[in-house]
Amino acid sequence: ARKHDGSPVTVLGLGLMGQALAGAFLRKGHATTVWNRTASKAERLVAQGAKLAGSVRDAAAASPLVVICVSDHEVVGGLLEQLDDVLDGKVVVNLSSGTSAQARDLAARAARRGGALLDGAIMAVPDEVGSKDVAVVYSGSRAAFDAYEPVLRDLAEATYLGEDHGLSSLYEVAVMPLMWGILNGFLHGAAMLGAVNVNASAFAPIAEQAIGSATRWLAGYARQIDEGVFPPVDVSIDLHRAEMQHVVAESEALGVNAELPKFIRAMADRAVAAGHGGESYPAMIELFRAPG
Ligand code: NDP
Repeated sequence: ARKHDGSPVTVLGLGLMGQALAGAFLRKGHATTVWNRTASKAERLVAQGAKLAGSVRDAAAASPLVVICVSDHEVVGGLLEQLDDVLDGKVVVNLSSGTSAQARDLAARAARRGGALLDGAIMAVPDEVGSKDVAVVYSGSRAAFDAYEPVLRDLAEATYLGEDHGLSSLYEVAVMPLMWGILNGFLHGAAMLGAVNVNASAFAPIAEQAIGSATRWLAGYARQIDEGVFPPVDVSIDLHRAEMQHVVAESEALGVNAELPKFIRAMADRAVAAGHGGESYPAMIELFRAPG
C-alpha cells in the first residue's frame, strides 16, 4: 500500500464540488471528516463512511490535511478565522475560486497561524473528480505539495505551478476564455448551419475535429510567442482576414448574429494596420497584451 493510503483528510464545504471531492477521498479509502454550513448535505457522504463534524474547528482538528471548497475566498477567510488554534502544522488546500490577490492574502493568514496553504484550481466539473483525465493545478507551499501529492492525486491529476499562491487563480482565469472561445464558436457555427436546417448533432463531430487541429497548433504558436518572431509557416493573418470576411458575409446572408466574427475581423484589421498581415496568427498577441 502507498504511504498515504487511508490517511485522514478533512473537507470543509459540501456544495456540488465539495461533495465530489469528499466522495473521491472516501472511494480511495481515506478516513474523511466533513463539515458543511447546511449539515444535511453530508447525509449521502456519511452513509458512505464519512464522519460529520459538529463545527469547522472540530472538522479541521481531525486531519493534518484540510481541503476547503466553498463559494469564494471571502467565505474561506471566514472559515480560517474559526481555526485560529488548530491550524498550526496543518496543510490547508483551498479549492474555492477567487482572485490571485485573495489567494495570497489567505496564504498569509494561514501562515500567521502556523499553517501552510496550497491554493488550487479545479479544471473539471464535479462528475469528473476522481479521474486522471482531469487536472487540479496547485500553487503555494512546495513542501506542502510534496508532502501530500499522492493524496491530492486521488482527486485528479495534480500539477504544481510554483511558489506564488496567486498562480492557480491566474491559471483558472486563463483557461476560462478558452472554454468560452470554443463554446461561442460552436454556437455560432451551429446557428449558421441551423439556418439551412442542419442539426447541431451533425455539426458536432466536424467541430470536434476542428478543435483537435487547433489544439495541435498550440505548442508551436507558444514558441513563436515566447521568441517574439512570427514566421507565417502555415497561414498568414492576411489570409485569416479574408476568411473572416467570408464568415461575416455568410452570417449576414444567413440572417444570423454576425457580432462575433465582426469583432474577430476588427482585431485582425488592427493587426494588419500595425503591419502584421504577413505574419502568423500569434502575432496578434500584441493586441491582447495592451489594454483594450
Ligand atoms: P455550490 O454553490 O454547490 O456550493 C457552495 C458551498 O459554499 C456550499 O457548501 C455552501 O454551504 C458554502 N457556503 C457558501 N456561503 C457560505 C458561508 N457564508 N459560510 C459557510 N459556507 C458557505 O458551489 P460548488 O460546490 O459548485 O463550487 C464551490 C467552489 O468550487 C467555487 O469556488 C467554484 O468556483 C469552484 N469550482 C466549481 C466547479 C463546478 O463545476 N461546480 C468547477 C471548478 C471550480 P451551504 O451548503 O450551507 O449553502
